[in-house]
Amino acid sequence: MKCSRCENRAVIRLRYAKLALCEKHLVEYIRKKVRNVVKKALSYGLPPKIVVAVSGGKDSMVLLHTMKAVARDLGIEVRALYIDLGIEPISSRARRIIEEACSNLGIDLITVNVLRALGESIPGLSKRFRKSYCATCGIVKRYIMNAVGVEYGSIVATGHHLDDIVTYIVKELIVVGGDVRNIKVSDVIPPAPGACPRIRPLIKLSEREIMAYAIVEGVEYVRESCPYAPRKPIDATLKNLISILESRYPGTKLGILSRYSLRYSDLKRESSEAKTCVHCGLISLGNECALCRHTRVGYGRALGPQLREYIRSIVRDATPLRQGSS
Ligand code: SF4
Ligand code: ZN
Ligand code: ZN
Repeated sequence: MKCSRCENRAVIRLRYAKLALCEKHLVEYIRKKVRNVVKKALSYGLPPKIVVAVSGGKDSMVLLHTMKAVARDLGIEVRALYIDLGIEPISSRARRIIEEACSNLGIDLITVNVLRALGESIPGLSKRFRKSYCATCGIVKRYIMNAVGVEYGSIVATGHHLDDIVTYIVKELIVVGGDVRNIKVSDVIPPAPGACPRIRPLIKLSEREIMAYAIVEGVEYVRESCPYAPRKPIDATLKNLISILESRYPGTKLGILSRYSLRYSDLKRESSEAKTCVHCGLISLGNECALCRHTRVGYGRALGPQLREYIRSIVRDATPLRQGSS
């Protein structure tokens, strides 16, 4: 099979795009998709500063590599954020891989250590929160990512891809049975009181395309799963079903995504009405954000202010963000 754009041998066929691509053109194709999301965010007047949240997994490591190239092309500032959850041995492995990638790419890395910031890592917090490890981890990670973005006055980029988002939409529709109007999907999420803007540059790329990029570019990533990762048979079944549909009707996934994607202007209108937490000042659904509420109940005091101060101290000590990420 020949590349649709040159004479070289194709390494991947993308039926939804009616393309076959060689290594060089696959890399160009993926970077262009990432660049489009960043350019869109800039066109909305969002700051040309991006903090890429990296876990060490394939998706976020590919995001980091592509963002380096995009930052150079667009002259924007990029930094990486690693949240050390203290889940061993994965956390140490992830830290090593991320530190090496950042050093090779010339990207400054900010590390937030949950144990140091809150006095306990995820298992201990989970007991206090009376929530599962993953629910606790989600609350802590979302809080830290947002607080870092707010302190830097930057956008936060995450590695959610097409398969994640489409599985989420289909699950909400046919398993959870939620109100479809509550399905909020977007590549660019505006800032709100107490919340930084966010982008999902991989949203139009499938896991297969991301994996192909990782192989072609030799992106290192943590291959082991988190020991607390729950088995989600329903998610796996839905992913299979969606893949069957995609193979019979190429473009199905992108079709679902576009049907449930919200316009930036609508998201902006909604976000201007967001509330902020009485304890820490960051975005919240009610009077207290999830982190402050769970720590207030579990520890007798809201720990949001302490975590924000810890993050401020890291940001104060960090070097200024650098143009073109290097
Ligand atoms: Fe956190 Fe659960 Fe993911 Fe592990 S599997 S990193 S506990 S969300
Ligand atoms: Zn080619
Ligand atoms: Zn709070």
